[in-house]
Amino acid sequence: MVLPYGRQSIDESDIEAVAQVLRSDWLTTGPAVETFEADVARIAGVPDPAVSVTSGTAALHTAYAALQVQPGDQVITTPLTFFATATCAMWQGAEIVFADVSPDTGNLDPESVAERITERTKVVAGVDYAGHPIDAPALKKVAHDHGALLLEDAAHSIAGLLDGVPVGSLADITTFSFFPTKNLTTGEGGAVVSPNSDLLERARMFKGIGYERKPELMQEHGGWYYEVTSLGLNYRLPDVLAVLGSSQIKRLERFKTRRQEITDRYNEGLAGIEELILPAHREGASPMWHLYPLRIQDGRRRELFDHLRAGGIGVQVNYIPVHHQPLFAELGHRKGSCPVAETYAEQEISLPMFPDLTDSQVDEVIGLVRGFLGA
Ligand SMILES: *Cc1c(COP(=O)(O)O)cnc(C)c1O
Repeated sequence: MVLPYGRQSIDESDIEAVAQVLRSDWLTTGPAVETFEADVARIAGVPDPAVSVTSGTAALHTAYAALQVQPGDQVITTPLTFFATATCAMWQGAEIVFADVSPDTGNLDPESVAERITERTKVVAGVDYAGHPIDAPALKKVAHDHGALLLEDAAHSIAGLLDGVPVGSLADITTFSFFPTKNLTTGEGGAVVSPNSDLLERARMFKGIGYERKPELMQEHGGWYYEVTSLGLNYRLPDVLAVLGSSQIKRLERFKTRRQEITDRYNEGLAGIEELILPAHREGASPMWHLYPLRIQDGRRRELFDHLRAGGIGVQVNYIPVHHQPLFAELGHRKGSCPVAETYAEQEISLPMFPDLTDSQVDEVIGLVRGFLGA
């Protein structure tokens, strides 16, 4: 594979930052974690520090736990996502209900959610597909009207904005992933943010194994004293990785600009071809493009995929509809229940997209796509 579909951007300042932590006293639970949590909160536009965790999957599990999802609850989500958006709610005992997406962005469609929401719905979980923010105001309204809360899986979209409001401030709770293909990396890592301090405090307890060391109780019982007050897990992000995140955040706006430039270049190079649908960009949205999700309508996605892979281009498909997976089929989810998402998923192919991609590499991909279509 010559060109991957996504990859990290690491420079000498990142390497030096990590080396400094390795030479320090704190490999984990130290000051680099606190700094990173403040950095993420600033990007997300929220007052409380982010709750950093070990992956985007851990962030989702932590968020569902903080939302107190439990057996009997329903969680409505999109099938056009990495399956952890759904499976993490199942760890809390939830029943998953899939709603359909909007044909332009591939994001959860508020009207479809409104049709499928019930009094048992605890959470509506949208995904900023490819980096384009969800219609959070509309989804929040549907959710709140039915006593549910909105979770935004922003694994694709840290530093995105909607009507000037940062991703992280739009929903009741928001999760990030810092996997190497994402917009900002810590190797493995993730975070939870929320404008709601109580929700966030529950998230912090959950990822911190559910125990507390309260100064007043330590005073009373002794300096060793702690209390286990809830069920939790150890999802702590170590300082060694947190510092990489803080170092990356310094270049986040540059990454965003470059990703937009690459998107613009693909859009220009692939414009006016009948078989293709190019990614939509809604008014008011300032996406942090994680993917370039091209759609090909002539039924030849598999052929195009193989053609580009043979040409050394590491294309990807995002995603196989989650409800088509055997785990969900066994639970009674059926093909045909989310037709817009299913069509989207049949046509989609993600072209290479990462900040270090050069213009000439983008042009090479455009040339191969055009060549395949005889355009
Ligand atoms: C990557 C991703 C996740 C999971 O993040 P990890 O850090 O890989 O665990 C969750 N949701 C979406 C939409 C993702 O793209």
